[in-house]
Amino acid sequence: MVSRVIPVDPFDLVIFGGTGDLAQRKILPGLFRRFRAGQMPPQARIIAAARTAQESAAFRAQTRAAIQEHSPTEARDTGALDRFLQRVHFQQIDALGDTGWRALRDLLTASDRIEAYYFSVSPDLFGALAERLQNHGLAGPQTRVVVEKPFGRDQATARALNATLAQYFDESQIYRIDHYLGKETVQNLMAVRFGNMLFEPLWNAQYVDHIQITVAETVGIGGRAGYYDAAGAMRDMMQNHLMQLLCLIAMEPPSRFDPDAVRDEKLKVIRALDPVKPHHIARGQYSGLADYRSEVGDPRSKTESFVALRANISNWRWSGTPFYLRTGKRMGARLSEITVVFKDTPHSIFEEDAGRHRNVLSIRLQPNEGITLGVTIKEPGPGGMRLIDVPLDMTFAEALGDEEVDHVDAYERLIMDVIRGNQTLFMRGDEVEAAWAWVDPIIEGWTKRGDVPKPYECGSSGPGDADQIMQRDGRAWRKVS
Ligand code: NAD
Repeated sequence: MVSRVIPVDPFDLVIFGGTGDLAQRKILPGLFRRFRAGQMPPQARIIAAARTAQESAAFRAQTRAAIQEHSPTEARDTGALDRFLQRVHFQQIDALGDTGWRALRDLLTASDRIEAYYFSVSPDLFGALAERLQNHGLAGPQTRVVVEKPFGRDQATARALNATLAQYFDESQIYRIDHYLGKETVQNLMAVRFGNMLFEPLWNAQYVDHIQITVAETVGIGGRAGYYDAAGAMRDMMQNHLMQLLCLIAMEPPSRFDPDAVRDEKLKVIRALDPVKPHHIARGQYSGLADYRSEVGDPRSKTESFVALRANISNWRWSGTPFYLRTGKRMGARLSEITVVFKDTPHSIFEEDAGRHRNVLSIRLQPNEGITLGVTIKEPGPGGMRLIDVPLDMTFAEALGDEEVDHVDAYERLIMDVIRGNQTLFMRGDEVEAAWAWVDPIIEGWTKRGDVPKPYECGSSGPGDADQIMQRDGRAWRKVS
């Protein structure tokens, strides 16, 4: 099934931080893929703005190399790449000074196109950029601003940032990116839940034993030591990506698939979360062949590169069904997965040694995006009634034909949503503040107690404390492999 591509309206997209890592690795290659697919209209323009001066021609050469590196298959279409790069311009700008703003206005005036400004710079500059966009007459009712993570480092800073942005833009113009929400499977999760009769009647504490969410990475902190050591896994991953996944899996059906209806339901989930008890949380720091403390250059760093916790949602639907969340770096495999483990059947009609089995719905975000449902059947062949689990595999590539699935990266999907003015997959300001309100006391508790994360071996599934959270409840984590 080849996906239908509907071109978006003509737009000008200004990427502040256009020379940065995110723009070169994700945003510009993603835009090229949308251009090649025919979704980006030929009149659209991309203006990369950054602090250091350079000519557009030099910037195009840099961007060509970045696209060839990060989108090699599509970049073989050199004709499309040439045409795309003609749409790309460079403008020197200083977010904290006057350099470049007048020239940027000259580039953008006389255009009645949609204007989108992507803040792909350090969050310290978000306020300054918003203010200058207003002061230089670059913001109007058609304007949208895209804000990268991290959105604050606690509730107070997130609230201050929301207040700053609100001085210049209406909430309907602000797009807070969480790229996990742009993944195909995350949207499919909503389709599976709310487009089928099969699952939703079972989607509650009566039938679901527990839910696990794992985001495991094999990479370490890489070149982001300064940022990461001041943040840690709780701020960098749990407060945003894992909590967003938790919201989508736990929320009530919205009355319609509309941005505020969806975000209202997500917010209710966050507000129904109980505070996390200290014995329901585990922190870890990788050591061994690659050592976290050596990588950040601080032998006493108390920042966690792994966190696991048990969350309880106090509402009618979920009371009694725990949600286990974990995320870490330098783990055994790269895996993002949500697993819904259903309860045992109320009574087994089979002999003891037939074995008892549980239905497990596994939603994989990466690698191999797809959904698998474990179903119990009879082991084939003679020799009595023995039960085995077989996966009903809904891996999209297999079901839909690999070459025909249009693999759209999260960033490119989200940028097209910005141009379309669809905020469904973006976090609203009150959601972000509520998520921090749940996370802040956990981090404050660690600081007050002088908590030190437990070391875990690189390539493992985290520290033993994380297993104990499960073992105390008579459960086990899924394998990270
Ligand atoms: P980077 O350090 O690679 O690039 C920073 C960019 O900001 C450069 O283009 C630089 O010219 C520009 N800049 C700096 N000071 C400026 C000023 N005064 N005026 C105008 N431009 C200025 O950063 P990055 O890794 O691309 O990250 C950008 C944003 O995206 C950050 O908020 C980061 O937290 C977020 N983010 C990055 C990644 C990633 O994978 N790189 C992932 C998630 C979120």
